[in-house]
Amino acid sequence: MDFENIKQLALSKGCTVRENEPMSRYTTFKIGGAARLLIFVPSLSALKALLKKCDELKASVFVLGKGSNLLVSDKGIDSVVIKLDGDFKKMTLVEDDTIYCGAAASLASLCRYACDNGLSGLEFAWGIPGSVGGAAFMNAGAYGGEMKDIMFQANHITRSGECGALTGDELGLGYRHSAYAENGHIITGITVRLHKDSKAEISRRMDDYMQRRKDKQPLEYPSAGSIFKRPEGYFAGALIQDCGLKGYSVGGAMVSPKHSGFIVNNDNASCDDVLKLIEHIKSTVKDKFGVELECEVRPVGKL
Ligand SMILES: Cc1cc2nc3c(=O)[nH]c(=O)nc-3n(C[C@H](O)[C@H](O)[C@H](O)COP(=O)(O)OP(=O)(O)OC[C@H]3O[C@@H](n4cnc5c(N)ncnc54)[C@H](O)[C@@H]3O)c2cc1C
Repeated sequence: MDFENIKQLALSKGCTVRENEPMSRYTTFKIGGAARLLIFVPSLSALKALLKKCDELKASVFVLGKGSNLLVSDKGIDSVVIKLDGDFKKMTLVEDDTIYCGAAASLASLCRYACDNGLSGLEFAWGIPGSVGGAAFMNAGAYGGEMKDIMFQANHITRSGECGALTGDELGLGYRHSAYAENGHIITGITVRLHKDSKAEISRRMDDYMQRRKDKQPLEYPSAGSIFKRPEGYFAGALIQDCGLKGYSVGGAMVSPKHSGFIVNNDNASCDDVLKLIEHIKSTVKDKFGVELECEVRPVGKL
């Protein structure tokens, strides 16, 4: 692949480029080998030009959010990894109850912005450590809320550099799923519609959700959150715990003793350690309960 050509184009468009950059620095699991090219893209014009070049050279492109739902291979990613930056972090109040937010903004900053403007609906997302783009892609959710409840439009750019948008049902939002998992477009920003409430009340609910996370989740260890999706009619954590796997380890990866639905990086875990532990959990749960667990965390790179 002509990485040099892509690198030069990116630099000429004002992007920051890092070569052979360890992805462990960009994932909440703190796991992952090097990305061949990691490009921080500050503007829509730079993104368009870069995607057109990658398309022309048939270079594969991976879009990185905040890396909080990824399991990156120890062998790294032999692709162009794009991280939206700069203009893509902006947010604006477009109407009294409506916010447009760039995909690179953190979900936390969007939640804070909504609260500061006395807008309710995003409290559920307080404490989810992703970007707005990643949250839209995953239809992130917690405590009975999900992005689907508030998001009515996503703006995107296709892999060949064409701008577009999806609205309402076109977004294909379901349990930890969106249309973007299929169409491969890059989300550049979303529009959310909220409702007015008192800042004090919004803030109180946010604090409550954060406290519940602190009480139940192993936030003191690197992880990617819940490793499995919730199987219909069960809770993954409870099934894993009932198999006696709490605290079970493979290498440096361990089923969290605090929350069995989390695998934590306890001691310099490799991607391989996590994958082996996932397989062990899946087969144990299948044997004992006949339930097929499905990964929520997304594997990336040469596994
Ligand atoms: C401690 C902890 C707690 C968590 N709690 C929750 C929770 O309560 N609920 C929940 O749903 N999740 C939770 N998560 C998981 C994670 O935070 C969410 O899935 C989050 O939405 C991922 O966003 P991200 O920016 O980190 O995406 P990444 O992990 O970087 O990427 C995830 C996927 O989104 C794609 N993507 C990212 N940005 C874009 C974009 N702009 N355009 C197109 N595709 C894009 C990536 O290519 C990748 O396929 C938790 C994780 C941790 C570590």
